[in-house]
Amino acid sequence: MPSATVGVLGGGQLGRMLALAGAPLGVACIGLEPAPDPPMAVAAEVLRAPYDDPGALAELADRCDVVTIEVEHVPVDALAWLADRVPVRPSPAVVAVTQDRWPEKQAFRRLGIDTAPFARPEDLSGGFGTGTIVKRRTGGFDGRGQVRLAADAGAARLAEVVAELGGGCVVEGVVPFERELSVVAARGVDGNVACYPLVENRHRDGILRETLAPAPEAGSAPTGPGRELVVGAFDMVTRFMHDLDHVGVLALELFEVGGRLLANEVAPRVHNSGHWTIEGAVTSQFEQHLRAVLGWPLGDPSSAGAAAMVNLIGTEPDPAAVLAVPGAHLHRYGKAPRPGRKLGHVTVVARDEPERDARLARVGALIAVSAST
Ligand code: AMP
Repeated sequence: MPSATVGVLGGGQLGRMLALAGAPLGVACIGLEPAPDPPMAVAAEVLRAPYDDPGALAELADRCDVVTIEVEHVPVDALAWLADRVPVRPSPAVVAVTQDRWPEKQAFRRLGIDTAPFARPEDLSGGFGTGTIVKRRTGGFDGRGQVRLAADAGAARLAEVVAELGGGCVVEGVVPFERELSVVAARGVDGNVACYPLVENRHRDGILRETLAPAPEAGSAPTGPGRELVVGAFDMVTRFMHDLDHVGVLALELFEVGGRLLANEVAPRVHNSGHWTIEGAVTSQFEQHLRAVLGWPLGDPSSAGAAAMVNLIGTEPDPAAVLAVPGAHLHRYGKAPRPGRKLGHVTVVARDEPERDARLARVGALIAVSAST
């Protein structure tokens, strides 16, 4: 007899890891996913229908104690319909703000959270001096749905790119950041907040490749290098979550520029840059999300030692070779290989950063071999 049933819009690897985290707690998840072969199906029942399918939504409302999301690009109307019948966490209002870059940036601005310079294309003559990025307001992820323009690209080229992207864009100035960081945090029904250590994310081709936890020079010590970054990031994410009355896990992606933090975007859900918490933190982000949406107490987000997560993109290394690396944990999502597709991830945990980096290098070499064969 499950102690609770959680409906999940989406059925990908995030849903799979939510369902796996729920099992020991007696929490059953039910996914809703239109795409074939949902990775979540290994660990949970997955209803196979569009996100706005009336019959499937009625079934979720009927069978679940609470409904959540593992992808933010779901129809807000479907969430609103559910919210009239069953608690939906995060709320449709939070999803509406965070699935569209424009209201999300307005929220940052209203809260005094710094961002890259941005504008609507129609309000911009030409581009930004540092170069311009045109991003689709909705639907883009992993670097898709965005185009970079040179600093001297004129208004005509900008209009052309916006049309190519199908309209509905936001334009940003290119930020000469030193590195990308993120903070994953959770907020409970009672308004309590728990923040995971600030992490550093390394991207290539717009896709997250590696996460280092904690971010180098931003450890969890109360004093020391990077401490002000940690405090600043926790303050930003906490204010954002309180302001929107968010419930659940949420990730805030940041750029570090000259010791300052600029907010890039928010995902109102468990996040790839929090996968390391499964083995690297006291409470994983997946368990934390279930605790939050069920109105249960939040768990301890702290970590001991150091961890890193590396995504397996397009190819997978030999599992036995990965598992021979001390402290390595392999997660395979059961997806068919395709270039650019996230097929799994490896987390390495270690006593300290040098040991973590050595283990990460070994895993990186195995991934490089798999990519070249
Ligand atoms: P996004 O979809 O907004 O997360 O962007 C994907 C990636 O593009 C980010 O992780 C950055 O590496 C890069 N990027 C996005 N916006 C900017 C910006 N304003 N300046 C510099 N790089 C950016």
